[in-house]
Amino acid sequence: MPDPTLIRPYLEDRHVELAERVADFCARSIAPLPEPDHDDAARARARELLAALGRAGWFEPIAARDLRALCLIREALAYASPLADAVFALQALSVTPMLLAAGGPVAAPSGSSPGDVVHAGSGAPSPLAGSAAAGEPDGGPGDAAAATSPRDRWAPAALRGAAMGAFAMTEPDAGSDVAALRTTARRDGDHYVLNGVKTFSSNAGIADFYTVFASTDPERRGRGISCFVVPADTPGLRFVRPLVLSAPHPLGEIAFEECRVPAAWRLGEEGEGYKLGLATLDRLRPTVAAAACGMAARALDEALAHATTRHQFGQPLASFQLVQDKLARMATELAAARLLVYRAAWEADHGAARTTKEAAMAKAFATEAAQRIVDEAVQILGGRGVLADHPVDRLYRAVRALRIYEGTTEIQHLIIARHLIERATSSPPDPGAASGHAASSRSGNEMTDASASAREPVPAGETGAAPGGAGGPDASTRPIASNPPPPHGASA
Ligand SMILES: Cc1cc2nc3c(=O)[nH]c(=O)nc-3n(C[C@H](O)[C@H](O)[C@H](O)COP(=O)(O)OP(=O)(O)OC[C@H]3O[C@@H](n4cnc5c(N)ncnc54)[C@H](O)[C@@H]3O)c2cc1C
Repeated sequence: MPDPTLIRPYLEDRHVELAERVADFCARSIAPLPEPDHDDAARARARELLAALGRAGWFEPIAARDLRALCLIREALAYASPLADAVFALQALSVTPMLLAAGGPVAAPSGSSPGDVVHAGSGAPSPLAGSAAAGEPDGGPGDAAAATSPRDRWAPAALRGAAMGAFAMTEPDAGSDVAALRTTARRDGDHYVLNGVKTFSSNAGIADFYTVFASTDPERRGRGISCFVVPADTPGLRFVRPLVLSAPHPLGEIAFEECRVPAAWRLGEEGEGYKLGLATLDRLRPTVAAAACGMAARALDEALAHATTRHQFGQPLASFQLVQDKLARMATELAAARLLVYRAAWEADHGAARTTKEAAMAKAFATEAAQRIVDEAVQILGGRGVLADHPVDRLYRAVRALRIYEGTTEIQHLIIARHLIERATSSPPDPGAASGHAASSRSGNEMTDASASAREPVPAGETGAAPGGAGGPDASTRPIASNPPPPHGASA
């Protein structure tokens, strides 16, 4: 189980308790499940995992926007089952745009939280309160049109594990360059008509609803993108084909063909979808990094167990200094990665207006480190490490995608470098200006960095769609006094 001791300074007591309970849940209910051996089995298992996670209440911290709780849950799930982690991740990805579009803090949809972590902090009314949270029997898509607000219709069901979400942003010609997307949403009276193809959508074919990004004004690129929630049974939405990964992970392509959706299913204002999507990715990146840490921690544990019990040349592998060197590097990289993850999450939870750079650092470093750690674990396991049913071989196949999805490592590095360069070259902030950032250049990574959109001149009234939108200071440039570092004292 991932050890909370190292990251204790970044956690509240409730998080420590949550970490213990989610680890216990994973050990009892997730880890014993055999890995699905083909794509159909993975799809069926994903639906079972959704129900199990929902029943146990693990999605509820998504509503509270408790990022450290999300990181702890993903770390534990990924340690036990990368597929369970993916199921969790997609619920967060598909629901977060609804929550950000609603603005303000959000309370749990129903019942009690597994870790009592569902505290948005202000006590303001929940956008989910009085909605379909109570009394909706199954969360199925059939009666979707009955509710006017997509958030009210889908978020509570998703957070109960009664409805599966998907996040449909990537297209065949728009991967890192999100603003190049070609799916269109043409206004037609009280409806939009969607046309286009989405690829690499996790949960494609098994989701109940899709959070979809489409252009309502192609001339304006990113600023012409809007976000919609589209139930899977909407006429004109078609599951095209699965894309089969080397690790169990439901993935596929969907197409929109004259797909009519009510205008009420749009999230936020027209043209705000890009900001909403990027703010969602920005916000959830530390959780990808946490999942990487969970996989790396499992690999390290497997390597340690093997190295201390397997004998060669008359002694345990762990007695060889070359093996010790590997173990030491693995443990150190994992510790560094976790500190970056929980530092970024702590900043976000403590109200940093923007943690783009911190999240990018955590995502890039943790996913790259996890790849190295898993690879070293395979090496320590020797031949056993490449047997398809060994946990480290499963991790080897699963961990690779984390360096790619939700912004590749290269894109994260571009984001980090741009923040550094802008800081180094910007003139002293003008107290009268809305933002202290220098004007941005339009580079290849602009569309994967929420802060890039924030620096584009944004018309009045368009700036409040999401945290991390326009105008807020970078977390790293805020005065220390306004956000003191966490207490020190816990040991590693
Ligand atoms: C397992 C998995 C699950 C996914 N799930 C989803 C999902 O649920 N929803 C969704 O919308 N998408 C999803 N994706 C898609 C994912 O977000 C994209 O694959 C990712 O954004 C990269 O896009 P691409 O594959 O088109 O690669 P490209 O954008 O074509 O990039 C290819 C390579 O070029 C590099 N590159 C691109 N631009 C630059 C630049 N400016 N400077 C330097 N290098 C650059 C990249 O870093 C990469 O190494 C998923 C992908 C995977 C693998």
